[in-house]
Amino acid sequence: MKRQTSFIFILLTSFLLSGCGSDGVQFFNPSKTVDIETKKVTKENKIAQTGPVQEKILKAPEKIIPVKPEVKLSEKLVKYCSLMDSKFEMYGWGKSNCEQYDWHHVRNSYLGRPLIWKSWGEETDVEKKNVTLIMCGVHGDEITPIKFCFDVIRSIDQMVYDPNSPFDIKNKMIVVAPLVAPDSFFKKLPTRTNHKGVDVNRNFPTKDWDADALRLWKTRYRSDKRRYPGKRPLSEQETVFQVNLIKRYSPDKIISVHAPLTILDYDGPAKHGEDKHEHAANQLLIQMSKDASGYRIKNYPFFPGSLGNWAGNERGIPTYTLELPSSDNRKHREYWNLFSKAIYSAINRDMSNGLNVADKEGKPASGNKL
Ligand SMILES: [Zn+2]
Repeated sequence: MKRQTSFIFILLTSFLLSGCGSDGVQFFNPSKTVDIETKKVTKENKIAQTGPVQEKILKAPEKIIPVKPEVKLSEKLVKYCSLMDSKFEMYGWGKSNCEQYDWHHVRNSYLGRPLIWKSWGEETDVEKKNVTLIMCGVHGDEITPIKFCFDVIRSIDQMVYDPNSPFDIKNKMIVVAPLVAPDSFFKKLPTRTNHKGVDVNRNFPTKDWDADALRLWKTRYRSDKRRYPGKRPLSEQETVFQVNLIKRYSPDKIISVHAPLTILDYDGPAKHGEDKHEHAANQLLIQMSKDASGYRIKNYPFFPGSLGNWAGNERGIPTYTLELPSSDNRKHREYWNLFSKAIYSAINRDMSNGLNVADKEGKPASGNKL
């Protein structure tokens, strides 16, 4: 386990230092700063560098190194984490380290399991920050995404609190909900739908829900139980949880991890628009695919009640659905190695400057409970 951790850390460090996601990368790298500034001086002024310029370019921006918070979990969360560990052991994933994180927890699933999320970065002025929301385990039988989110959490945690890491959390927020639908995942035989038999990714309150969700489910999907959208939109705790995360943090982009369609799908501002904001969202899509060895981009349709429809289509928040190639528990390391770079590109891509996140009605209302 220790060997595995150090391997991932070395891997991460090496790609960060080698300029991963160089398009839009925000990592602080002193040598890079000098290089960029030097170029600027040479190109614009065509003069040799002088003493004062040299002094200016060597002044590094201040990096914020937050103090790792002391973790005091409630009894409920301790229990939940030990349940998580037993599943991890069963799947041969090692320790989840769940008990080492300062989780946020407000709402529970139908069976009373905590719906948890972890965040990094000060939760102030989220409007002005580059906020990335990553969610896994919306469908409980897609198990590899859940391990993937725990890998994401572990490595972000290492980067944020390591003073030697080039990563800087300043002006950013990262929010990760590793297991949106715990009731399905913790079943003996995990299911796509939640405990009440609802497909959480068909339960968002989209404008077309009333007219189409149940109608299309009965006709196009022949009442497939795996895709039941629920009696009404937003009837499920897991849906409310996701909606409120989006309202609370106003993410600039969302990554939802599923399996096994082996595609990267995008919903949000138009892909081929001239607009620079649309351009930024599309650039990230291409970058993420490139980072993952040219992973297939496919425009999968969105559905009544889906996250892509509610957040991407209706609210204009760039929403990326990463479909891992399988739910094979043995492939977890392979998937982390393949997609970690894409995740870091997404975190570092600042789309907030001028990005017209179309419908800001999804703004956090104060006192909003998750
Ligand atoms: Zn899924």
